Amino acid sequence: MANLENLYREVIMEHYKNPRNKGLVEGLGYHIKHIKNPSCGDDVTIQTKCNEGVIEDCRFEGSGCSICCASASVLTETMIGKKVEEAEAIAHNYLKMVSNESIDPSIDLEEAEVFAGVRLFPARIKCASISWKAFLETIKK
Ligand code: ZN
Repeated sequence: MANLENLYREVIMEHYKNPRNKGLVEGLGYHIKHIKNPSCGDDVTIQTKCNEGVIEDCRFEGSGCSICCASASVLTETMIGKKVEEAEAIAHNYLKMVSNESIDPSIDLEEAEVFAGVRLFPARIKCASISWKAFLETIKK
């Protein structure tokens, strides 16, 4: 178990240092949502483009703690290429996981599972959630 925790921490730090899909782009068809978490200074904007029911692109911009930035990076990687309904189900399941609610084990959270430990730190739940909540806003019909 200790090794798994170390691995998770490594994945989170790696995304924090080398964020994927960071930086917003100009372009038609993007939906944007900005959310702040005043309790620790996290400030994230998520930008998503859907095409024929599929997440064609997902990007983020922002600053904040390592959990916040890494979870935004993992979010974008997880969502690109997913069907919108699938992406929505994953995001809801992820938000349940970090909030320590029961999750649907049939929905694969992929790399986002590394944030499972957040539920043990109630003060960090918001940090791990804001980009995923913003993402859900960007795919709302
Ligand atoms: Zn934070």
